[in-house]
Parts: sequence; C-alpha cells; structure tokens
Amino acid sequence: MALFKKKKDYIKINPNRNAKPMNEPTVPDDMWAKCPSCKRILYTKEIGEESVCPNCGYNFRISASQRLALVADEDTFSEWDTDIDTQDPLNFPGYQEKVQKMQEKNNLHEAVLTGTAEVSGEQVALGIMDSHFIMASMGTVVGEKITRLFEKATEQGLPVVLFTASGGARMQEGIFFFDADGQSFGCCKKT
Ligand SMILES: [Zn+2]
Repeated sequence: MALFKKKKDYIKINPNRNAKPMNEPTVPDDMWAKCPSCKRILYTKEIGEESVCPNCGYNFRISASQRLALVADEDTFSEWDTDIDTQDPLNFPGYQEKVQKMQEKNNLHEAVLTGTAEVSGEQVALGIMDSHFIMASMGTVVGEKITRLFEKATEQGLPVVLFTASGGARMQEGIFFFDADGQSFGCCKKT
C-alpha cells in the first residue's frame, strides 16, 4: 500500500532521524483491501473465500482457480485443450510478452479454463473465464476453447457450466479464428 511504501522511503532517506527499530513487525501488502463500492478498508481475511465485501455485499473479482475451488468437488477437475497456443497474427506491439506475463502471473494457459469436473458428484463440462487475464477478452484461443468445450460436452452427453467474465473481444488479434479443423488459422470463413 502507498502509505507503507512512503514510510519505508522516509526511513531510507533519513536513516538516523525517527528511524524505526529494524525488528519492528512489517505489514504485508495483501493484508488490507479497499472495497471499490463502499470504500471501506477491509482486513483481507474478512472478505473470505467467496470474496464478498462484508459491509456492502460487493463481489470482488475472483480468479479461475478460486472459482474452481468454490464450485467443483475437490480433485475432480481435468483440464482440456492446453495444446493450442496464442498467436500474434497482427504483430501487435508487446502482445506476445503480455500473454506470456499473464500466463506466468495467473498460472493459466489462456483467459478461459476448460475441462471436466464433478459438481456435487455430477460430471459436467466446465468453463471458467478469468478477468485477471487481459480482462478475459476473447482472442482465437479463448474462442476455440469455448467451442471445443461445447463440442466435447455434446459428444460426451455432459451438461456445460460456463462462467463468463469477459471484457469483450481482444483487440490485439482482430477477427482471426481457428479453422474448422481446429488447427489452421484464418481470418475469413470458408463457404
Ligand atoms: Zn463494500
């Protein structure tokens, strides 16, 4: 938090004046959060697993892995389609680096997680978008993974549960898509 960073800088610049003892406990950055709705400063443990503001009921953004843990039975998730890679058809400046950074930061292959899982003992095809990953915008891989989710669910006779949390289309990829074979890459439909 900015408040604590400011203090740290002050001590660094003026090491002998009002300096705090080296063994003073430090406050972790993730200990507090501010609710964007009611503006209350919250102790993060108050927010709980479901990430809801205890004061006003605001729903904080949650990651795909958090949602998976909330919805699916433990250790039942099996991920699908991690073998299709994000392309950069427009050579958009910094796009590949951004995707790589998002993959590492969020521990996700792309902005949607798909696979099978059990929910209260029932097998389902599950898709979860993660807005921490470029606002869960839809590029070719996200579109292809959702298409395959429904195709595989249809083949296997499974119900689909899809959590949509997308900011829209991904501008860095324009209108490109994977072709019907799911392999090649195009920008206009075959007739
Ligand atoms: Zn609130």
